[in-house]
Amino acid sequence: MRNIPSYDPQSLEAKWQARWTERHTNEPDLDRATRPFYNLMMFPYPSAEGLHVGNMFAFTGADIYGRFKRLQGFDVFEPIGFDAFGIHSENYALQRGINPAELIPQNIDAFRRQLRQFGGMYDWRHELSTTDPAYYKWTQWIFVQLFKAGLAYKKRAAVNWCPKDKTVLANEQVIDGHCERCGTAVEQRFLDQWFFRITDFAERLLANLDNIDWSASTKTLQRNWIGRSEGAELVFETPSGKKITVFTTRPDTVFGATYLVLAPEHPFVDDLTAVEQRPAVKAYQREVQAKDIVSRRVGDKTKTGVFIGSYARNPATGEAIPIWIADYVLMEYGTGAIMAVPAHDKRDFEFATQFKLPIRQVVATPGEPLPSVSEDGKLMNSGAFDGVPCREAAAKIVAWLAERGLATPRVQYRLHDWCISRQRYWGPPIPIIYCEQCGAVPVPEQDLPVELPLIEDFRPDDTGVSPLARHEEWYFVKCPQCRGQARRETDVSDTFLDSAWYHLRYPSTEFDDRPFDPARTKKWLPVSSYIGGNEHAVLHLLYARFICMVLSDLGHLQFDTPYPKFRAHGLIVKDGAKMSKSRGNVVVPDKYIKEWGADTFRMYLMFLGPFQEGGDFRDEGIVGIRRFLEKVWALVHEAAAKGGEGAGAGAATDVVGQKLHRTIRKVTADTEALQYNTAIAAMMEYVNELREQGAGSRELVKPLVIMLAPYAPHLAEELWERMGQTESVFQAPWPSFDERLASAGDVEIAVQVNGKLRSRLVVPRGMGEKEVVARVLADEAVKRFVDGNPLKKVIFVQDRLVNLVV
Ligand SMILES: [Zn+2]
Ligand SMILES: [Zn+2]
Repeated sequence: MRNIPSYDPQSLEAKWQARWTERHTNEPDLDRATRPFYNLMMFPYPSAEGLHVGNMFAFTGADIYGRFKRLQGFDVFEPIGFDAFGIHSENYALQRGINPAELIPQNIDAFRRQLRQFGGMYDWRHELSTTDPAYYKWTQWIFVQLFKAGLAYKKRAAVNWCPKDKTVLANEQVIDGHCERCGTAVEQRFLDQWFFRITDFAERLLANLDNIDWSASTKTLQRNWIGRSEGAELVFETPSGKKITVFTTRPDTVFGATYLVLAPEHPFVDDLTAVEQRPAVKAYQREVQAKDIVSRRVGDKTKTGVFIGSYARNPATGEAIPIWIADYVLMEYGTGAIMAVPAHDKRDFEFATQFKLPIRQVVATPGEPLPSVSEDGKLMNSGAFDGVPCREAAAKIVAWLAERGLATPRVQYRLHDWCISRQRYWGPPIPIIYCEQCGAVPVPEQDLPVELPLIEDFRPDDTGVSPLARHEEWYFVKCPQCRGQARRETDVSDTFLDSAWYHLRYPSTEFDDRPFDPARTKKWLPVSSYIGGNEHAVLHLLYARFICMVLSDLGHLQFDTPYPKFRAHGLIVKDGAKMSKSRGNVVVPDKYIKEWGADTFRMYLMFLGPFQEGGDFRDEGIVGIRRFLEKVWALVHEAAAKGGEGAGAGAATDVVGQKLHRTIRKVTADTEALQYNTAIAAMMEYVNELREQGAGSRELVKPLVIMLAPYAPHLAEELWERMGQTESVFQAPWPSFDERLASAGDVEIAVQVNGKLRSRLVVPRGMGEKEVVARVLADEAVKRFVDGNPLKKVIFVQDRLVNLVV
C-alpha cells in the first residue's frame, strides 16, 4: 500500500479553526441572506469549572444540525453568548472573595476558548453577554415596557429565606426544607417584590402549545406547570356575615365538606378567632412563619393545625362546620381557604383522622376504601342529588348554589405571577425610581442603562435589602418627573428575564440605539430551530414565550412565538449515574479533546445513544470512533491517489452504488430527525462495505466526506482539500440520492400489535429483529397501540412480519 500520512487531529483542527476565522466561513451576510436559518442553542452560564460534558453534548448536537442545514443550502446563523448574571456566579465570587465583575470575564474567556476548540460553527461577531451594559440596557427597557403596560407590579409576598446565605431562594433551591447550597433550615419572610402578570396570559400560553412543534415531553411539562383546572368558587358564610370563598375542582362533593381550613395568614383569621382560642392560634401562626414554603406545600407526614373556635355554614347542607387553620393551605394559591372533604381527599382524610373530625362519604364507589378520589361513582348523602353521576353533578350543584349567590364557575391555574425581584447584587438593577410626590417612576429610556455600580461590599446582609441600598451615591437620585429628591429601586431582576429575549438580540448586537433591528428581526426571527435541555422546560421556555407575546401585543414584534420548533436533548450519565461533583464522576471534555481530537469526541458523544434520550459515557468506546475516522482518512487518500472520477469502481459498482444511495437516504433522514447515532452507524456500515469490496473511487467517497462534515467538520475540511477542492466543504451541496437505487432490495413488512394489523413498514431486505423493532416502535401508528406499555413478547419473521405483544 502507498504511504499515507498519519491522521493528526491536533494540528489539523487548529489549522481549520484558524482558517474559518480568516475566511469568515461561519459568518453569514445577515442583511442579504436569501435562505436564512437561525440555529439557536441554549447559551451557557459561564461557571468557573468551564464547559462540562453535558454542555458539549448539547452544543455538538445543535451544531451538527446547523452544519447540516448549511450543506442543504441555507444561510445558517449560529450565535453563542453567555448567561453570566445570577446567583451562581455571585456565590462563587463571594466564596473566592473576588468581585463577580472581575471574575466572570475570566470564566467567559475560558468558555470561549473551549467553544472554539470543539469546532462550533459560531458567528463570533454576534457574541453577547447578559452582563454587558449594552445588553442589559435593553433588558431594563423590556421591564419599562411591561411597567408602562400595567404588566409589572409590586406586592408583598412570602419568600423562602436562607438566614446563612442571607438571600431569597427559589422553590427549586429548597431541598427538604433546607438551603440547597449550605444546608441551613430555610425560613419564610415577607418582602415587597416586583411581579410580572404572566397569569393574565395563562390561557394563551396554554393554547399556543397546540400550534408549535416542540418535543412532546417539553409540552407536557409546560402544560402541567401552567396547571389549568376547571371548578367553582363556593361561599361558606359565618354567623357574623363573613363570606369565606374556596376554590374546588370537585363541587360535586360539597355535601361531604365537614370543616374548612384557612391559611394561617388568611385576613379573616384575626376576626374569626374565638377569645379562648387566641393563644393557641397566635402560637401556631408564629410556628408557621418560621417554615419554608416548599415543605408547607409538599406537606409534612404529620399534619398540624388549630381550631380557631368559630364556624361557617356549608352552602349545600346548611350545617355549621368548624373552621381550622393549617400550614398546608397557602395564601398564594387559590383563595387561601379550602373546604375539606375527608372522605374523598387523601390529605383531608389524614387531617380529619388525626384531629377526629367527621368523615362523611358522598360518592358511592363500591369496593374502594376511603378516601376514594374516583370521579366515576354516583352521589350519596347529597340530598336531591343522590344517584347522580359525579361528572354530571358538578355542574348541577354549581347551578343550584349559584341561584343563591353561593357558587361561581371558575377556571384556576397552578401558574402564578412571575416574581422577578432579587435582593442581590449581581443582576441588572430594576429601572424604577421612588419619589414621595410621584410614586414609582420608570427610568426614562434615554437614561438607560441603569448601570450596576462596581462596589466592594456586594455581600448580602440580614435586612433582605439589596447591597445596592448601601451605596448612597448610586441610591439617591433626582426624580425624573418632578426633579425632587428620590431613590432608586435596589432589587435586581431575575436572570430568567435576561434569557427571555436573548434570541432577539443576537442578530442585532451591533445596534446601540435599538434592542432589535426591525429588518434583521423580520429576516431572522422567529428562531428556525432551538435545541436545549428539558430542565428549562417550565421556566426559561415559558418566560421567553410570555415576553414574546407581550412585545408582540405592544407592537414591537410581528410574531408571538419565539421558538416554533424546539427539541429537548437527553442527558449524559457516567457509568449509569448522574454526573456530579460530589460523586466525583464529572467528565472534563478538555482532556478528551486533547487526547483524541474534537472530531472524535464530538462523534463519540453523538454515538452514545439517541440525541434526544442521552447516553452513558464510558471511556472504552471512544477508540472505536477514532478507528472509524482513521479508516475514512485512509479511504480518501487512496481515492485521491487514484485520480479521475469513477476510476477503481469496477465490478462492485451495483452493490456499492446501491449502498451509497441507501446510506445518503438514511443519513439525510436521521440527521434531520437528530438521530445522530444511527446516522453515524450507517456511515460506518458504508465504509466497511467500501473496504470489503475494495471500492474507493472519488465518486464513492466524496458524498461520504460531505455527510461526515457536520459530525467531524475539521477532518472533512482537510479531506476535502486533499481531494483537490479549494473552497470549504460547507460550500458543497448535500448529496442527493436516487430513490430507485436506494430502495432496491427493500421489502414491506406487516406490523401487528397483539395480532392485529396496525401498520406497514418498508425496510431493507434482511434487516435484523432489533433494528426492525426499533423502527416499528418509532412509528406513530404503532405507538398509539403500544401506548407506553412494556413489550411482553416479539414475534419476528424476517422480511415479512413483526407482531408486538403488550
Ligand atoms: Zn444557604
Ligand atoms: Zn417626583
